[in-house]
Amino acid sequence: MGEPEELALELTAVARTAGADVVGFGDVTEGLHPEFWPLARAVSLGCALPVRVGEGLAFPDEPTVARLVEAGRAVAACLRRRKQRFFVLPSTGEGKKGYCAALFGHFSHKVAATCAGLGWVGKHGLLVSPEFGSAVLWGTVLTDACLPVGRPVRRGRCGSCTICRDACLPGAVQGREWRRGLEFGDLVNKDGCAAQVARLQREGKTCCGRCMAACPYNFIAVHAKEHSEGA
Ligand code: SF4
Ligand code: SF4
Repeated sequence: MGEPEELALELTAVARTAGADVVGFGDVTEGLHPEFWPLARAVSLGCALPVRVGEGLAFPDEPTVARLVEAGRAVAACLRRRKQRFFVLPSTGEGKKGYCAALFGHFSHKVAATCAGLGWVGKHGLLVSPEFGSAVLWGTVLTDACLPVGRPVRRGRCGSCTICRDACLPGAVQGREWRRGLEFGDLVNKDGCAAQVARLQREGKTCCGRCMAACPYNFIAVHAKEHSEGA
């Protein structure tokens, strides 16, 4: 086994021990602004959010956010020990400054995860993991370390499914299959979505998320978990 494979195994082990459910490695050159190409390898980390069949909505709860933060720290510590350069990109860019804020303007966790082959962008504009569905909180560690990378996913795999479009009350989900280069706004009418979220918040609800909650891949993941726990 070569050094890149050994490093990948070590990073996967420390991230999973820290709480990540999904770990992958991608060459993100195709989705990263040239300014950031010195760190063109990504460690993509996913933590599944709690979803219950029949209830649906899943929001970034504190334990899931904490797991993702710990996984990012564990990966960073491992890369530091190996004397590799890295940059930990948190799950959101809110309130961030400097390099991080600049990077968020040019990059998304969906780029890292799709370049690592961990899933595709669904018609609702969110990443779909075939293992965990749409209810996953994603984080990324960019690095210059040499790592074996996954096969990138460049097109959506929703096919004829329109469940998230049908679930969206204001009709904001356009029902368009994603391909690399399409932005969130090409898939979802951002103004329509924002208006619906604002309406719900006025009624005392936290958010919407009907499109995310309806994705059948969530239920495949939930049933698989229930089956393994019951086995
Ligand atoms: S969050 Fe709600 S309003 Fe926005 S796209 Fe999804 S279902 Fe539609
Ligand atoms: S609900 Fe269907 S169309 Fe929407 S993201 Fe999930 S698989 Fe794709």
